[in-house]
Amino acid sequence: MVQPLALTPGGVPPGFADLQAKIAAGERLDESDALRLFQCEDLHFLGWMADKVNGRKNQRRATFIVNRYINYSNYCILNCQFCAFARKQRDADGFEYSVAEIAQMARAARQQGITELHIVGGLHPSLPFAYYTDMLRALKAVDSRLQLKCFTAIEIRHLAWLAKKNIHDTLVELRAAGLDCLTGGGAEIFRPAVRQVIAEGKETAEEYLDTHRIWHRLGGRSTCTMLYGHVESLADRVDHLAQLRRLQDETHGFVGFVPLPYQPDNNRIPVTSAPTAFDTLRTLAVSRLFLDNFNHLTAYWVGLGMKLAQLALSYGADDLHGTIVDERIFHMAGAATPLKQTVASMAGAIREAGFIPVQRDTFYEHVQ
Ligand code: SF4
Repeated sequence: MVQPLALTPGGVPPGFADLQAKIAAGERLDESDALRLFQCEDLHFLGWMADKVNGRKNQRRATFIVNRYINYSNYCILNCQFCAFARKQRDADGFEYSVAEIAQMARAARQQGITELHIVGGLHPSLPFAYYTDMLRALKAVDSRLQLKCFTAIEIRHLAWLAKKNIHDTLVELRAAGLDCLTGGGAEIFRPAVRQVIAEGKETAEEYLDTHRIWHRLGGRSTCTMLYGHVESLADRVDHLAQLRRLQDETHGFVGFVPLPYQPDNNRIPVTSAPTAFDTLRTLAVSRLFLDNFNHLTAYWVGLGMKLAQLALSYGADDLHGTIVDERIFHMAGAATPLKQTVASMAGAIREAGFIPVQRDTFYEHVQ
């Protein structure tokens, strides 16, 4: 039984009383509702409603994870227009790590108390499938309690091609080697016309969703993302959210949603600024209101900056992501945020924003 919400203190902006009533009654919003909310100029109204809905799900708790990112390589056979991370093997600043080097990084990070390794890379032109399974086994050998959140959907499709197996059998093999959770990267914006402009050659929306569907049916869990603030329209964002919501209705396999603000540097997209704070906060708020079947919404501090991420906790977000230690994908695209956070800085930021900090694991279960 959903408890009715109180009215907003500042009142309901003209033309939004029906949506306020729907949200207050806990009714599902449709896509036209979401578009109207995106077009609403009253950010306080959106934030107030999103905060109340978040409170129903998570009370005043906000989470973070103690994790480390590892990019095993930035060599990639694709050339997505928005990507500042990928390199060709002829490039001086390309890199790849051996399994032994990655295990050493994991060992050092484990000693610092991480519970999760978050591992993604480009679609490497020549590493064999065994490299990836060896890496997972080596990381589990460092500490079997380490949770391995690895690979985007397009990487899984690349690994399936390497393994000469279908997606299902590839995922089964990766899970047997130690894969715990799929990452949500690579969703970008699903509509083909936008995908063509920002990530030509990448997998289609159907392929992204199908990879996650197969993983969920195997009992696996994953997160999902949306890259916003470039050439897409608000309607494109709504379509993207609707496709994620439909798959979540079907599988309930997404543990969280992570909206990613576009970063403008070192790429081939003719958009030279990142999304504004207004756009970021309304995107988080509308996501919280529309994605009624998602429990967790992340304010990704690497892209937002910690100050805006703190504020986002009052606009529907209930998670600040992780300590990370070494972030490259956003920083190569112009992010000016630090490379890492400490437990104290994450918890302090949450507490200062008026929420109760809780350390979580990969599946958003509370650690302490
Ligand atoms: S976004 Fe991923 S798949 Fe596309 S070029 Fe960059 S690393 Fe490669």
